[in-house]
Amino acid sequence: MPDANDPHAVRPWTPLDFRIGLGEDTHRLGPGGPLRLGGIDLPGEVHAIGHSDADVLLHALVDALLGGIHAGDIGRLFPDTAEENRGRDSREFVAEAVRRITAAGWMVVNLDCVVQTEVPKIAPVAEPICAAIGAMLGIPAERVSVKGKTGEGVGPIGRREAIAARVVALLSRS
Ligand code: MG
Repeated sequence: MPDANDPHAVRPWTPLDFRIGLGEDTHRLGPGGPLRLGGIDLPGEVHAIGHSDADVLLHALVDALLGGIHAGDIGRLFPDTAEENRGRDSREFVAEAVRRITAAGWMVVNLDCVVQTEVPKIAPVAEPICAAIGAMLGIPAERVSVKGKTGEGVGPIGRREAIAARVVALLSRS
């Protein structure tokens, strides 16, 4: 029998019941705040434009969760041509994605998120966003990472015309 306390001991093989999912989204920015991001309204000089509440980070999160279990994407679940999705709170999209991965027998281990924007600065609001997303998923905030990157002044993000987000989610069998 391998010694359970020996980190170098050979362990019996077990199936790795993990999946990863990747989500990505972009929205145009318009003048005047607040900016809805990660389920939080951030005061400032810009807001995101979209059919729903335009929460670019939650949209990328939904696609990461659905992608991890081969369950399509946010556009198929909540078409932006549907009247019932106009101005809709994206936390409802996350709740539906969580319902689907839970029903399929999966749970979220952790998330790593990148938000690309010139404004607002993400670092000061990263922890409240981690807490908000953790609460939506029922996991501790420490298992959610949110990082900001600028567009280095070039391209649509650098010109403050757009905001983008990428999320990687690790799922395990529940
Ligand atoms: Mg979107």
